[in-house]
Amino acid sequence: MKLNIAIDGPSASGKSTIAKRLAKRLDYIHIDTGAMYRGCALKAKSLGYTVENEEEISDMLKHTEFAFDPQGHLLLDGVDVTEEIRKKDMDILTSSISALPKVRCELVRRQQAMAKSKGFILDGRDIGTVVLDDAEIKIFQTASTLSRAERRFIENQEKKRSGSFDEILDDLKQRDYQDTHRAHSPLRKADDAIEIDTSSMTIEEVVEMVEAIVKEKMKEKEGDRK
Ligand code: C5P
Repeated sequence: MKLNIAIDGPSASGKSTIAKRLAKRLDYIHIDTGAMYRGCALKAKSLGYTVENEEEISDMLKHTEFAFDPQGHLLLDGVDVTEEIRKKDMDILTSSISALPKVRCELVRRQQAMAKSKGFILDGRDIGTVVLDDAEIKIFQTASTLSRAERRFIENQEKKRSGSFDEILDDLKQRDYQDTHRAHSPLRKADDAIEIDTSSMTIEEVVEMVEAIVKEKMKEKEGDRK
């Protein structure tokens, strides 16, 4: 028996890392919805569009293909854009473009179509509230701003990406503000979500905690069926 799992939370709270590991352990499919918004922003930028071009970006999306390869890399119109979408200048741009209602409407539709059965883990900002509002498990994963900036700084160094610690911290604060204050489906904890503050937890501890929640829910569901 499989369920659907929604993981939401602010930028750099480790949602994708946890979702990816959990998907492997449970044999579920992971969809990183943030990567789709990043892909949309990347293509819009390459066509010279800005946040002022909602209509054009919406038309562009009608001719845009999003897929994930078995490693979880985003294939945008068939091309692996994993590195490009993670570049520093994509963070704020993606956050701004993802606030456009027409962009959200189309990407939510695509995400719902991708996860129309059970056995999916989606991570993002509006999964538990909008995309999979009927998900059996909803996790709201947080961490203090400082620990998120530290994690992102270490990750960037490992992957040889640019950005000083202060730049990363400022960027995170700006994205947090934009993502929680936009008019259309802002980041917020769903009423039935379980909040996990991961500031002082290891990745493994978080994965184990969420896995235990999933197993408990499965037992409950199986009991209901008997
Ligand atoms: O998760 P990630 O940091 O890659 O997401 C990039 C941006 O995409 C976020 O800052 C947010 O503005 C947007 N996003 C969103 N809804 C989602 C996933 C991401 O608005 N479901």
